Amino acid sequence: ILFNKYQELKGNIRVMCRVRPMLGPGDGEGAKITFPDDKTWAEIAVQGAEEMSSLGKVTRKNFNFEFDRVFAPGAANQDVFDEISQLVQSALDGYNVCIFCYGQTGSGKTHTMSSRDGMIPRATHMIYETISKLKEKSWTYTMEGSFIEVYNEELHDLLSPHGRESAGSAAGAGQQAKKLEIRHDEARKQTTVTNCKTVELDSADKVEAMLEQASANRAVAATKSNERSSRSHSVFILKLVGHNKATGERCEGTLNLVDLAGSERLKQSGAEGERMKETQSINKSLACLGDVIEALGRGSGHVPYRNSKLTHLLQYSLGGNSKTLMFVMVSPLEVHLKETLTSLRFATKVH
Ligand code: ADP
Ligand code: MG
Repeated sequence: ILFNKYQELKGNIRVMCRVRPMLGPGDGEGAKITFPDDKTWAEIAVQGAEEMSSLGKVTRKNFNFEFDRVFAPGAANQDVFDEISQLVQSALDGYNVCIFCYGQTGSGKTHTMSSRDGMIPRATHMIYETISKLKEKSWTYTMEGSFIEVYNEELHDLLSPHGRESAGSAAGAGQQAKKLEIRHDEARKQTTVTNCKTVELDSADKVEAMLEQASANRAVAATKSNERSSRSHSVFILKLVGHNKATGERCEGTLNLVDLAGSERLKQSGAEGERMKETQSINKSLACLGDVIEALGRGSGHVPYRNSKLTHLLQYSLGGNSKTLMFVMVSPLEVHLKETLTSLRFATKVH
């Protein structure tokens, strides 16, 4: 598996690309995307037209990108999971792991991360299996999950029904949830979020219930603020604490699975009020995430975690001894070509 193979060679940051399939006739025309090297599946070429600004002429050319791995439209979530399972395991070994899905709305982030067949249920399922095997070696684990939405640079609890109301909506008045705040324990390099519910995830049923609740809470918000779910980041945080009764060893790891807000270029002009605020928050936090990962990749001394809520929240899971994987999701459609190139270039920046 890539992660272990390139561990020493390339540090702890991986970037992979996934191209979603065409979804039917309604999808319109496909862009010309090819996968030049079918042995390693690590390259992608997009044929696109870019306007020559000074001449106003349009020329088609090939844009090539290289990743740690590319998933073509035929790939299933199982294939994606096979590639990340080692990384999930390492959270049980005491690492902090972050997996992000980046891409424009409709590119397959939620399908990959939080659908019933996505990485969240697959990862938790695999963790249960591993934990039950580790019992024979005297290890016992506790698993605690929380699910946080970052919207307009504010945190909201997706596991408590009134968590959403703290956004200031009229509904739920009188039952306003307390504000969620990030607290860092510098000495232990740990993060807690105040007023945020955590659930003991000791069975697969509880994971399912948790996912259902989170998506219901997201849906409630979606009716209040149109498209809110694509304009916020959702962060699933799984804390794993292992204890070995025979040897007295302890280990603590965290798995963070992040479904990012849509990366489509949102125009500042024309947007007003809430929409304007959303746009600025998304642009800022995605850019900041890119800056943080880029700084980590360069081995830079200064990493600008504090520039956005998301990177601040994940500070101890990014950098240091942590492992990071960024999935860049792209649409196969001709109409999305410009966004596709923008996403692939973002990926190149953090790679
Ligand atoms: P996003 O979260 O990036 O906005 P979604 O995950 O909601 O995008 O995907 C948009 C649509 O495409 C959904 O209907 C989803 O089921 C479908 N889809 C995305 N990726 C795949 C895939 N790999 N295979 C089949 N359908 C997909
Ligand atoms: Mg989504």
